Amino acid sequence: MSDYAFPPPPVTSIAVTSGKSFPVRRIFCVGQNYSEHAREMGGDPDADPPFFFTKPTDAIAPNGAVIPYPPATFDFQHEVELVVAFSGGGRDIEPDRVDELIFGYAVGLDMTRRDIQAAAKKKGRPWDMSKGFDFSAPCGAITPKAEIGPLAKGAIECKVNGQTRQRGDLSDMTWKVPQIVRFLSALVEIRPGDLIFTGTPAGVGPVRKGDDIEATIAGLPPLTVRVG
Ligand code: MN
Repeated sequence: MSDYAFPPPPVTSIAVTSGKSFPVRRIFCVGQNYSEHAREMGGDPDADPPFFFTKPTDAIAPNGAVIPYPPATFDFQHEVELVVAFSGGGRDIEPDRVDELIFGYAVGLDMTRRDIQAAAKKKGRPWDMSKGFDFSAPCGAITPKAEIGPLAKGAIECKVNGQTRQRGDLSDMTWKVPQIVRFLSALVEIRPGDLIFTGTPAGVGPVRKGDDIEATIAGLPPLTVRVG
């Protein structure tokens, strides 16, 4: 017998390429982690340590999903990102220990209501409603690190209706994964099931109803979603 007042929500999970699925605990995201994108957003890529925001766990949408055009925006934008999935964790993690805590990698989209974000920035308000809304975190299947090893370089791209919008290389990240984890684990204890969306290269832009978004990273299964 359970003491819950109603059945608890299901565990959000992501497919793993080798079978089974990855239970998601929390979603952390890094802001402005590629210098050209930092500049297109009006930031200074050389001045700032990495900063973080979060999305709710159930914002995950799987490969092949139709993601509804969200309410309250006229500027719904794509950001392709490398997602790091953790099976280990800890506090104050040294960069040379990060690799052993990683379960695997996936292609993600940090979908953004850019007009709400711009208004929040202007007024110094939180980003939550610009970043953490329903279906805002599409994520493809996770490839176990055991199959591909550490992922530090390789093409990262986003196409909309077949046209390339974003193109970069993982090696262009301002803060690499070990450093990101060092900073994040100084703020919170990283736990198994946590995800980090590691930031997007330049070329972010709007999508419309009916658009097909294809996000790819060399070596990982692609992530395709349609805006419904
Ligand atoms: Mn992002």
